[in-house]
Amino acid sequence: MSPGFFKEDDLIAVLTTQPFASTLDYRAPEGGCHLGAFVEVPLGPRKVLGVVWGPGVGDFDPAKIRAVIRVLDAAPMRDELRSFLERAGDYTLTPLSAMLRLCTRAPGLGDPPSMRKVYRLGLSEPGRMTDARTRVLDVLRDMGRLSLTLGELAETAGVTPSVVKGLVKLGAVTEEESPRDTAFPRLDPDLGGKELTGDQAAGAEALMAGVRSGDYGTTLLRGVTGSGKTEVYLEAVAECLRRGRQALVLLPEIALSAEFLTRVEARFGARPAEWHSGVTVTERRRVWKMVGEGRAQLVVGARSALFLPFQQLGLVVVDEEHDTSYKQEEGVLYNARDMAVLRAAICGARVVLASATPSLESWANAEAGKYDRIELTSRFGVAVMPKMRTIDMRAEDLPRDRWVSPSLARSVTQRLEKGEQSLLFLNRRGYAPVTICRACGHQIGCDHCDARMVEHRFLKRLVCHQCGESKPVPDICPSCEAEDKLAAVGPGVERLGEEVTGLFPEARVAVLSSDMYGSARALKAEIENIAQGAADIIIGTQLVAKGHNFPLLTLVGVIDADLGLQGSDLRAAERTFQLMRQVAGRAGRAEKPGEAVMQTYQPEHPVIRSILAGDEEGFWRAEAAERRAAGVPPYGRMAGIILSSTDVQEVFDLGNAMARQDGALRKIGAQVFGPAPAPIARVRGRHRVRLLVKAPKGVALQAALAEWAGQFRLRGQLRLAIDIDPQSFY
Ligand code: ADP
Ligand code: ZN
Repeated sequence: MSPGFFKEDDLIAVLTTQPFASTLDYRAPEGGCHLGAFVEVPLGPRKVLGVVWGPGVGDFDPAKIRAVIRVLDAAPMRDELRSFLERAGDYTLTPLSAMLRLCTRAPGLGDPPSMRKVYRLGLSEPGRMTDARTRVLDVLRDMGRLSLTLGELAETAGVTPSVVKGLVKLGAVTEEESPRDTAFPRLDPDLGGKELTGDQAAGAEALMAGVRSGDYGTTLLRGVTGSGKTEVYLEAVAECLRRGRQALVLLPEIALSAEFLTRVEARFGARPAEWHSGVTVTERRRVWKMVGEGRAQLVVGARSALFLPFQQLGLVVVDEEHDTSYKQEEGVLYNARDMAVLRAAICGARVVLASATPSLESWANAEAGKYDRIELTSRFGVAVMPKMRTIDMRAEDLPRDRWVSPSLARSVTQRLEKGEQSLLFLNRRGYAPVTICRACGHQIGCDHCDARMVEHRFLKRLVCHQCGESKPVPDICPSCEAEDKLAAVGPGVERLGEEVTGLFPEARVAVLSSDMYGSARALKAEIENIAQGAADIIIGTQLVAKGHNFPLLTLVGVIDADLGLQGSDLRAAERTFQLMRQVAGRAGRAEKPGEAVMQTYQPEHPVIRSILAGDEEGFWRAEAAERRAAGVPPYGRMAGIILSSTDVQEVFDLGNAMARQDGALRKIGAQVFGPAPAPIARVRGRHRVRLLVKAPKGVALQAALAEWAGQFRLRGQLRLAIDIDPQSFY
């Protein structure tokens, strides 16, 4: 037997998805089991899912050790994934059981393989032929080895199911049980992509050479929107498939559009496996299993696809790598981009980080020579970068509660006359960010959080963007009970929509905001409609900045370019820069040249100026120098600690105690700041306090954090979460 096999009755350690600090000992079941096998084990009166993690630890009374109930019908977890979970868990200070939950998020893994009936051509000829019968047999002959379900067969042949059943009785058609989880269709890497331009071809060749090397390596693929990054990395995917390894393309959830999947299908002749929140439960199970058996060659998915049990992962593409949605902010706090690099390093795969506006972290890694770098400098075809200019709002004549300046309105009018599209960008969902009482000044807040409620006129409610709580808009002020005094303050996209409809009554105006559509699917469908020309003016939040192609769009107007410049967030400048570049990149992707205008009250701000100058390198260098001087990421390490409890005194007491007893941190030269109320100091009735740890680069931060936090007992309602490399700060 191989070293990775345990005989019946051997003592084995099983990692379960239950919140225990370590593995639990069991006895191998009848027939034995492999290292990594997915098993069902007894735990008290329950049966739980687990993975055989190694030989038993032997710290438990041998007489009480129970046997594994059964080995599940799934490929054993490979060594590579086990080490990945261990190392990702160490990095994010997450217990292994929670890491295991991340990679077993496919319901029904423990179910026996479910079967369905399929129909094939039988051996005998029916005695009497009818047209309907002939059609059924013809369809089956055409299908060759492919099998069809009753519904599919009847529909294709244009007959009722009873015709098929009749043929089964006569032996002309056979009915068989076949597993429901079927392999994904083979992809053909040689179907041929587009003819690449010079720097595209050179980029593709470099990525393909990387794939051929069979070793780990990360490449930053940078190029403006429309420069052909997708075309280039699809060639790396093709090469990976030729080598018989699996590929994964990660996209921000919202960018997982039908448009993208159609493109992949056109390149490889079949659809890839999909993994995101819109995938049905049965399909998730199928994807999970087929990925594990190597019968899904390419997965296109959102961040959690990184935890799928690939058989032979050869390439991970992280598209829009700077996107903040790669950071999971609840439960296990991980950054899928960084974890993709970790997993690839363990399994000898390549990583491609694609972006028009990379994160400073990736830019710095490329500068330091840790990542290769490929630049696509020009846009494909005749499309050119849009012209950019600012509108100085101090010089514009705007009535109260209006946000579209006369200059911007003139530009929109010009597009309307030419039948081209305009996009007005405002990164604020809802109607108005604040509802205030004009009698007493009271601002309506959430009952459970310290956040103001945002009016959503579309939903006819006030919504808390922190916890999701909503309530009807009241008629009287909840504080002073004055009637009809509540007023909306500030703009959200819905309100901007109202203003624009008033300004351009003839135009078709579409407001694109994630909360205005019942589902991600409906939203995607709407985006596609609009791209085809279903609207003249598009009003959108940041979701329109993500990878959609609007061929008719030639004007982008940023309503409030100053929004992202405020606040003391370490990444505010970077975010603003990225967002503006991306939004500007929306304009003029096809043949029509575009224009991007930013409304700002501070046109001389360095970020605004570098955007205008198109001086990316200059922006990164200046930003990098500031961060280096401050010793903050990527030139230093940070961790956020969030303490929460229903009792406000309790959290502050713990926070103060942690700040005082910081010996473990001082040993590595780290400092702790706080405690301070978290940005939103109360969420769902829990008070939240934040500490920030700053450490030099290259120290053992995680070990020190674990030692430090380990000194404190979390009694009662207290919770502690550690966020390594936090994205959002103060
Ligand atoms: P990016 O990913 O950098 O935004 P894409 O790969 O989506 O760029 O390319 C933008 C558009 O240009 C797409 O419609 C793409 O099919 C087209 N395109 C890019 N390169 C080529 C090429 N070499 N031949 C034909 N079409 C191309
Ligand atoms: Zn709330």
